Amino acid sequence: MNTFHSTRSNADQLTAKQAIRKGIANDGGLFVSDSLGDVQIDLDAITDKSYQDIARIVLAALLPDFTQTELAECIGGAYGPKWSDSGITPLRPVADDFVLELFHGPTSAFKDIALQMLPRLMAKTIAEPSPTAADQSTSDQSNDARTTPAKERIMILTATSGDTGKAALAGFSDAPDTAITVFYPQGQVSPIQQLQMTTQLGSNVAVCAVKGNFDDAQSAVKDIFADSDMATDLYTDSKTILSSANSINIGRLFPQVVYYFVAYSRLLTDQVINVGDEVEFCVPTGNFGDVLAGYYAMRMGLPVAKLIVASDTNNVLCDFLTTGIYDRNRPFFTTNSPSMDILISSNLERMLYYLSDGDTELISSLMTDLKETGRFEIPETLKNKISQIFSCGWTSEDQVKSAIHDCWEQHHYLIDPHTACGYHVLNDMEADPLTPRILLSTASPYKFPRVVGESLNLKLPDNDFQCMDAVADATGITPPSQLRFLETAPVRFKDVIAIADMKNYVRKASTWANHE
Ligand SMILES: *Cc1c(COP(=O)(O)O)cnc(C)c1O
Repeated sequence: MNTFHSTRSNADQLTAKQAIRKGIANDGGLFVSDSLGDVQIDLDAITDKSYQDIARIVLAALLPDFTQTELAECIGGAYGPKWSDSGITPLRPVADDFVLELFHGPTSAFKDIALQMLPRLMAKTIAEPSPTAADQSTSDQSNDARTTPAKERIMILTATSGDTGKAALAGFSDAPDTAITVFYPQGQVSPIQQLQMTTQLGSNVAVCAVKGNFDDAQSAVKDIFADSDMATDLYTDSKTILSSANSINIGRLFPQVVYYFVAYSRLLTDQVINVGDEVEFCVPTGNFGDVLAGYYAMRMGLPVAKLIVASDTNNVLCDFLTTGIYDRNRPFFTTNSPSMDILISSNLERMLYYLSDGDTELISSLMTDLKETGRFEIPETLKNKISQIFSCGWTSEDQVKSAIHDCWEQHHYLIDPHTACGYHVLNDMEADPLTPRILLSTASPYKFPRVVGESLNLKLPDNDFQCMDAVADATGITPPSQLRFLETAPVRFKDVIAIADMKNYVRKASTWANHE
């Protein structure tokens, strides 16, 4: 039995499909399955296999209520010609270590790996419309023109401070039986991020700027989700169900488990290791989703010696792993690695669940503490178990720039500010020469051309596209075309609305992005 329940209670048991549709449990907990690791991945079977083959093997173990055909369709659609590298996540040797490049998807960031998959998995949770009882009882056989009832459609609704919005748009654009509406705060995302969103193609997408900050937009989205009258209207009018593409959805988490096995498979192919040898992963971390996927891989039989969590100046996780005390009562820093600027790492809750052997009462009380006081402390035994698996380090803003500079000067390998956090942490640690180390690279350096150019001591123009060119001139590395071409791409979405008008915008979007 492979069912999912909340990290905070065993009460409701859901299938994977139900958990993907629902996203988060009623009590605020995250969905977990006690069968994780019951199926161990055969490492011989993944040697010399393509990304897509390994994805089929790993996801079949994690999502048993999806048929092989369903998974193959989702994987084929998600990891195809939109990727700039046919290996999807190529592994590159850099000095004595390896870098797993997770940024070859349509938006040049690692979130593509999950967000290209999620909409396809979601679409498979929609049942084919069945003829109603009245239709079946009709004895009139001549009625060939019987109208089929409309299929349900899931509309993703999200407020974004920049990156997630674009990756979600790219994932859901023209995906079957889905639609997506993204709100971003006017004037508060970078010019490149704004263009990435407002030029998005697809007949089922809508993008709108709102007059307010990210928190205002986020709260308004939460209000819309909580509005049951609106939900009823949308369903009656167009069979539309609202959902979120949040990073706690198992449909976003599970696709990330795949590339840990892919990295291992590449090392086997290159005869760097033999089956069973241990490796280490270093992961630039924000919401703890990426590194948690590494822990899931480990539970499923991947030989991992250590998972190294790399933070930026917002080092709340690193403090937690060191002291056993999680405390978000601290200053928040806006850094050059914005996707890691997080004070509450939601996915940590799943790691605590598994390492406390499924102690839902403990997790419940820790999360209540976090909510009420912004702080929790875990028992010593749990802390010791965690430190056998996870280690950590963090990186200051100056160290990020030095890391980008040094990695280029010493190895002619260009990294972005998020990857640079991992690079710094890894190089600060003592390496065991017998254990290969893999750094996860989470974004293309050309998503952050100004910081990268500054780190290389280049003279930089004001315009970010000219910055890309300056970095390209200095390094000889070509910017991804989907970023460089944004400068001249036609802008499709120009609406700017008040926060109070967001509900109406969603109603409108649900009709214009209607079923054909
Ligand atoms: C989201 C993101 C991260 C952090 O990943 P988590 O799963 O939230 O820990 C790191 N780097 C980049 C570029 C990202 O977009």
